[in-house]
Amino acid sequence: MKVDVAVVGGGALGLSIAYNVAKRGLKTMVFEANYLGFGSTGRDIGLVRERVVDDVAKLALMGLKMHDKLPDKLGVNTLFRRSGCLIVALEEEEAKALEEKYKAYKRMGVQCDPLRLEEVKKRFPYVNVERLKACYYDKREGLVHPLALLWAYFEAFKKVGGALRKQAKVKSLKVEGGSFRVATDAETVEARKVVIAAGVYSSELAKQVGLTVPVEPLAREALVTEPMKPFLGPVIERPSNGFLLGQTMRGEFIGTIGSLGRSYDLSLSSYSFLKEFSRQAVEIVPALSGLKILRQWTWICDTTPDGKPLIGETSVNGLYLACGCHDYGLSIIPAIGELLGRLIVGGEVDPLIKPFSPARF
Ligand SMILES: Cc1cc2nc3c(=O)[nH]c(=O)nc-3n(C[C@H](O)[C@H](O)[C@H](O)COP(=O)(O)OP(=O)(O)OC[C@H]3O[C@@H](n4cnc5c(N)ncnc54)[C@H](O)[C@@H]3O)c2cc1C
Repeated sequence: MKVDVAVVGGGALGLSIAYNVAKRGLKTMVFEANYLGFGSTGRDIGLVRERVVDDVAKLALMGLKMHDKLPDKLGVNTLFRRSGCLIVALEEEEAKALEEKYKAYKRMGVQCDPLRLEEVKKRFPYVNVERLKACYYDKREGLVHPLALLWAYFEAFKKVGGALRKQAKVKSLKVEGGSFRVATDAETVEARKVVIAAGVYSSELAKQVGLTVPVEPLAREALVTEPMKPFLGPVIERPSNGFLLGQTMRGEFIGTIGSLGRSYDLSLSSYSFLKEFSRQAVEIVPALSGLKILRQWTWICDTTPDGKPLIGETSVNGLYLACGCHDYGLSIIPAIGELLGRLIVGGEVDPLIKPFSPARF
């Protein structure tokens, strides 16, 4: 079997790229080692941020605007809403650090403003302002259902003729006579171009064609509670310890805090996470007291040394990387799909993705 483009990884990023390539007329096949959404995409919180590092913010801004239109464009509701995000500090030191950070965000065009605590109390009466030292509000940020986003890209990909191989781990990747041999246990496919969008496992594959890709794991835990009648408008974030709390449209609360460090071990789910997250959530939103937790899990973010993603063609002609999305992938995935799609099909390197070229390492 021969294809124009093989995409390794059936997460939201791989499918977004695959859709954007296939819709431009190239024969495209996605290989997913497990099932769609097995990776980070199926296990995250869903916050779509604009507050990200340096030039990633421009991609995130493009991504945010695209999220508004994706349901119409792809024909599936991604359950995205501009919920906004309340960014809180519970200690004086944190408040000072936030102030500095937000001056920098302001310079980057991010619309995040301080909110006086009386104002927080009036607008978000369920927030325990007694515990807050400072609060900022970014009204442009939003919450998406990550699996709905993934499904939307998959449905659109199928409509433009894309093919998917599930339970198809790419075990071998070789360059032969100017094209690639992409091999799973079941078959070997010849591809003119290959995109590695395998999250934290991208470096394993790249190594097979002689590339060193500096993607490091950062294991994080998350949980979901039983549903409650929706009342939490914005997502609440405490940047000093990675605390995030959002409420889905179905009423469940979903959240995360801290990290488990540089590990690939998915069996690390801990009681201390449950305890610490719950304590913090009830401290900030007392109405959550007594709520039952349904499930907790661990997954791995793919991080890079400079905090920015790897997007673009590698030194191996025809081989592209799309990984290193840290904990902000959902914000930039629509933009990466569009811009990398254009690069793969037409050779055009958009200035927005230029800073993230794999050649910088
Ligand atoms: C706890 C947690 C909370 C998060 N919260 C947020 C958030 O609120 N907002 C946000 O923007 N981001 C968040 N993130 C990060 C976000 O989930 C990721 O940035 C995003 O999902 C990355 O998508 P992806 O498609 O690159 O990776 P993945 O979804 O991991 O997809 C990669 C896929 O590649 C497959 N694969 C791997 N190796 C192979 C192979 N050899 N052959 C075939 N397939 C292979 C895997 O099975 C996987 O399905 C969070 C992450 C975690 C862990």
